[in-house]
Amino acid sequence: MPDPLFENVIRKFNDVADRINLEPRVRTILSQPKNEIIVNFPVKMDDGSYRLFKGYRVQHNNVLGPYKGGFRFHEEVNLDEVKALAMLMTIKCALAGLPLGGAKGGIKFNPKSVSPAEMERITRRFVHALGANIGPFHDIPAPDVGTNAQTMDWMMDTFVNTASAGERHNLKGVVTGKSVDAGGTVGREAATGTGAVMCIEEWAHVKGLSLSGMSYAIQGFGNVGSWAAVAMARNGARLVAVNDAAGTIIDPNGIDVEALRRHVREHRTLEGFSNCALADRTAFWGVPCDIMIPAALENQIGAAEATALKCRLVAEGANGPTTPEGDAVLEKRGIEIIPDVLCNSGGVIVSYFEWLQNKTGEAWDEERVTHSLRKIINKAHREVASIAAANKIDMRSACYWKALKQIDRVYAARGIFP
Ligand code: NAD
Repeated sequence: MPDPLFENVIRKFNDVADRINLEPRVRTILSQPKNEIIVNFPVKMDDGSYRLFKGYRVQHNNVLGPYKGGFRFHEEVNLDEVKALAMLMTIKCALAGLPLGGAKGGIKFNPKSVSPAEMERITRRFVHALGANIGPFHDIPAPDVGTNAQTMDWMMDTFVNTASAGERHNLKGVVTGKSVDAGGTVGREAATGTGAVMCIEEWAHVKGLSLSGMSYAIQGFGNVGSWAAVAMARNGARLVAVNDAAGTIIDPNGIDVEALRRHVREHRTLEGFSNCALADRTAFWGVPCDIMIPAALENQIGAAEATALKCRLVAEGANGPTTPEGDAVLEKRGIEIIPDVLCNSGGVIVSYFEWLQNKTGEAWDEERVTHSLRKIINKAHREVASIAAANKIDMRSACYWKALKQIDRVYAARGIFP
């Protein structure tokens, strides 16, 4: 059975392709990825046994530039999910106007079930198995669920060490999201969460609202969720509920973001935080708040959750968190959405800055990163909002509209070889 996320993405793609009269050959090309790479590779575990891991890299489209997209380490990773996420990356990069295509990858396993030493060997062996399928001018991975700057540092180190000595420093851009010490950029770790809040700030600005004193809830307190909370706290907003894989904590008076970040860094879960009893998942979606930020996994807001929501805005930090049924309920209820391909594009935008810095040997400061991110994400946001208003369509369709028109123009100019 196809993964529902892939079905959902294709459904939206076909719907918008019809509306904009997308050139049929471009529709054919985009409806499937260019390459689907699957590798099975052995890793020696701490107890001396060998375990076989299944890794994926799906390269959806590269007409705008090298393939770009994260690596996910999670027990639910599968080919259809990766295909959907790769296609979302094609849309996301085109929407932001980046000279990059779309890809995604991952390994099917639970990262919490292995030791740090095993994690390093799994990561390095995966990169070795992918070989020349990735590279700084071909396909550039980045972090996603279950991976982080440490994972990217090991990946880069493994990749450059298989090249000749003279080439090594030119190849650091093979992955982005590296630690600053290993050639990453300042601001990348926080970029996705920060970018999501820049979108929320723009939404509030257009409406003449202040975020100060507004309440919000977050699903997922990993990279995206926790950095979004930091940026919301800077705006004076109040975090009233958080849900992660372990359960939900709710406090209408406000949850201390920095204390929660320290707790999650240490324990990797909300569980045990400040004597907060864990509520169940259903309670989370019904918590009254102004803004809901899903920042965990796909397919979280279906019709039931969308019916339960008591917020006025859903800002999608995660990829594909709202199903088409969820979308329909939100639209009917007048709850606004900032769609994933716009809302979480801060990550790939700052990854692009990292890649540029690796190419030129520059080191941008935080001010330049933040200013450049805001400029790109606000421009995309305003264009999407004006497409939505002019054509009387929802924001998600408007995102696809802008991205697909851009890709269509490039194919029209270049033609198709031979
Ligand atoms: P992460 O691994 O850092 O954090 C994931 C969080 O989701 C954790 O808090 C985990 O407990 C929670 N979670 C996992 N399963 C859950 C479940 N069943 N119910 C509730 N919570 C659950 O991952 P991340 O990098 O923060 O990515 C989160 C989302 O953002 C994903 O959809 C990812 O594709 C998207 N995204 C990430 C980036 C990035 O730069 N990291 C960029 C763009 C989009």
